[in-house]
Amino acid sequence: MKFGGTSVGKPERMKEVAKLITKDEESKIVVLSALSGTTNALVEISTSLSQGDRNTANQQITALEEHYQQFCGQLLTKPASLEKARLIIQEHFEFLHIILKISFSEALNKDILAQGELLSTKLFSVYLDEIEVDHMLIPALEFMTIDNYDEPQIGSIKIKLSQLLQRHKDKQIFITQGYISRNSKGEVDNLKRGGSDYSASLIGAAINASVCEIWTDIDGMHNNDPRVVKKTVAIEQLSFEEAAELAYFGAKILHPASIWPAQFYNVPVKLLNTMDPEAKGTLIAAEAGSAGVKAVAAKDGITAIKIKSSRMLLAYGFLRKIFEVFEKYRTSIDMITTSEVAVSITIDNDTHLPEIIKELEPFGTVEIDTNQSIVSIVGNEITDTEDVMQKVFNALKTIPVRMVSYGGSRHNISILIGRNYKEQTLQALNVDLFGLE
Ligand code: ASP
Ligand code: MG
Repeated sequence: MKFGGTSVGKPERMKEVAKLITKDEESKIVVLSALSGTTNALVEISTSLSQGDRNTANQQITALEEHYQQFCGQLLTKPASLEKARLIIQEHFEFLHIILKISFSEALNKDILAQGELLSTKLFSVYLDEIEVDHMLIPALEFMTIDNYDEPQIGSIKIKLSQLLQRHKDKQIFITQGYISRNSKGEVDNLKRGGSDYSASLIGAAINASVCEIWTDIDGMHNNDPRVVKKTVAIEQLSFEEAAELAYFGAKILHPASIWPAQFYNVPVKLLNTMDPEAKGTLIAAEAGSAGVKAVAAKDGITAIKIKSSRMLLAYGFLRKIFEVFEKYRTSIDMITTSEVAVSITIDNDTHLPEIIKELEPFGTVEIDTNQSIVSIVGNEITDTEDVMQKVFNALKTIPVRMVSYGGSRHNISILIGRNYKEQTLQALNVDLFGLE
């Protein structure tokens, strides 16, 4: 069971989590994020430090510490638990104050970012002790490891985690940190922002869990972006493939990398709502449940690159040369469309765009469109479902579409539009595909 930042972000929410994990007798591993707002605050502290602004960092650390004092004042009642919590807060904030005095480095940055999950799990453990829930806190830094390429080492995670669990066979409830890990140098590292979902899925895979429950503050994955369109509904069931497309192309509810471990080790994932625990939520499993379009999602910050060259005409090997440039700069490509004399590609990471453009120029004319959005229409067997294309094109009637990708899989149709057309596009698709005004 994984609980996100908002599910533990207020004392009363954290108490709710304690109820949810003690509802049945099944043994479980509980993965917690940092309290909502904490990781952002730690990023700010790190940024101040990296800019050499120790004064600001100091103020930010003090403000965050204050927040934790108040939090514990409301979470705990017994003097002994309040004292335990005080010592935990003191330990972690002293550490931050010590960091203030040493020179900033990337490794220190990771140490700073790890404090959020360390604090949330330790304080939750104190609360469980206070209400006499038997449990065991297992440090993620003892089993969650990543390699040189930041890839989790599932084999070794499996071994280390089962050893830890073996040592405490008498326990039913284990608590651990999401997000944080150890890298190949043995340093504290993390699975990138939003990575607690990934931790949960890796843990579920490593122990062959019967289910991996991701608890958030919404009742599952929705058919459209609730922040953009007025009416959306929760999706009952998705296949791993569908969920991967949706998580990657915009649905913020689940970290996209968290799909593969669950899929590979066939652990069903449930998206559930701490605010409404009885709601059905969304089940992500090997089977899709039903056919047809299930959802649309949008991903912003996309850059389109067009390479136009008459040399592409009747040539072979042209695409390979182009793709090699992206490979060299470890930049992944999302969408591709080709004509006989041009190819268009999208990327969402433009860190190396200047170098990429420079290396593409010998192949033809290179044109760049920034600030684009990919709108992805996801479902099961949608290419075999009648009328889908007609409905999509009807919805897009008045929208200038830059690229269309259809048939790459049976689960997805993607279109590329200017970011400023996103709201209009999602709304129109909501009406035409789902009949939701
Ligand atoms: N606390 C981390 C973050 O805010 C990881 C997570 O919550 O998933 O990104
Ligand atoms: Mg999250």
